[in-house]
Amino acid sequence: MYLVRLIYASQISPEFKAEDIENILEVAQRDNKKRFITGMLCFNRKYFLQCLEGSRAVVNETYQLICRDKRHQNVVILDYCQIDRREFADWSMGYVPTSRMKEQLILTYSPKNEFLPFELSGEGAHGMMLALRNQVEKS
Ligand code: FAD
Repeated sequence: MYLVRLIYASQISPEFKAEDIENILEVAQRDNKKRFITGMLCFNRKYFLQCLEGSRAVVNETYQLICRDKRHQNVVILDYCQIDRREFADWSMGYVPTSRMKEQLILTYSPKNEFLPFELSGEGAHGMMLALRNQVEKS
């Protein structure tokens, strides 16, 4: 069974309430552990950027569940590829709010020093998430 990585961007919908992020994370961490999905979720109260790693079938299934979730909208795949190894193996769903993102790191991958996931290339989104992982693991 192949390992794949999927990265998507989305934005909150009118149904999203500030406290929803806690439930989203709780469910993601619980269910991803059961499905051997690993990855990272970045959020700035307006946009989501998420990376999912795992078997192709399970990542596809989980992505479809996520797409149906009415708490966000405009879900766009930025990157999808087969991988040989995981990069977030220790994270069932690591969470990085923008308050933990250094402006310089965002600027390295983005047109502005703002978290605007729809303006990232697939490669840029992947690079930014790896840099964030390294930053969080160091701190
Ligand atoms: P059910 O619990 O039957 O829910 C069905 C629908 O009800 C959902 O699609 C959603 O629209 C709505 N809903 C569910 N709970 C609530 C709530 N507390 N408040 C309001 N509406 C609600 N799930 C994962 O397993 N792994 C992930 O990595 C993951 N990442 C996510 C990232 C984002 C940005 C979002 C918005 C959701 C994410 N989820 C993730 C949650 C996922 O979308 C589903 O809600 C979850 O998988 C449960 O699916 P279900 O069909 O079994 O849901």
